[in-house]
Amino acid sequence: MKFDILTIFPEIIEEYINKGIVSIAKEKGLVEINVHNLRNWTEDNHKTVDDTPCGGGPGMVLKVEPIYRAIQDLKKENTIVAITTPKGEKLVQSKLKDFSTKSDLHMIILCGRYEGFDQRIHDNLVDYEFSIGDYVLSGGELASLVLVDGITRLLPGVLGNEESLSDESFNDGETFDYPQYTRPIEFNGWKVPEILLSGDHEKIRQWRESQKASNR
Ligand code: SAM
Repeated sequence: MKFDILTIFPEIIEEYINKGIVSIAKEKGLVEINVHNLRNWTEDNHKTVDDTPCGGGPGMVLKVEPIYRAIQDLKKENTIVAITTPKGEKLVQSKLKDFSTKSDLHMIILCGRYEGFDQRIHDNLVDYEFSIGDYVLSGGELASLVLVDGITRLLPGVLGNEESLSDESFNDGETFDYPQYTRPIEFNGWKVPEILLSGDHEKIRQWRESQKASNR
């Protein structure tokens, strides 16, 4: 599985992918993540990626040419070009699962900034538009990391104990994870439920099942 992330702030992405689970997945060779500076596909001395909006108005808009050139360079036959945008399809766990089963997945992810992208990018260059929620962030870097992290941790062999995936929130589409506790058994008068200390695995299983909250 391979991701190519296009951004004007590569450091933001690098910092995250070189820590924790995603970093382990990279080291195991289960995922390849390349981070590209969009400015590498500009052709002027100032490495310009944005310009003022046609028709006037505030802010700047990401230009089509650098993104077009980058996609031409990075795209292979089965590449999915994804774009981060508040008006895209809302990202959900079932979508992450679908992507995680495609072992030959190659995805280019475009991180927006400013007022967003020239609409011709949306209209002509993109296969998948996604949003991470109904709010507006300053850039698409966090959204791209949400997508990459969410898919990567589901890949077989990435998590030390894959059993943890089966109990996770959203896994069955209906319930959240059960409550978790660890030592000390009592802190500040707050106690771990007796049942978890009983050693009776069947009773613990039943209790956990009963504690799973519905997300419907
Ligand atoms: N003018 C745009 C609008 O009102 O919809 C907002 C642009 S936002 C300031 C800049 C970039 O951040 C977007 O192009 C997108 O790449 C990213 N972004 C912001 N919120 C997002 C969200 N909820 N999901 C995915 N990407 C988001």
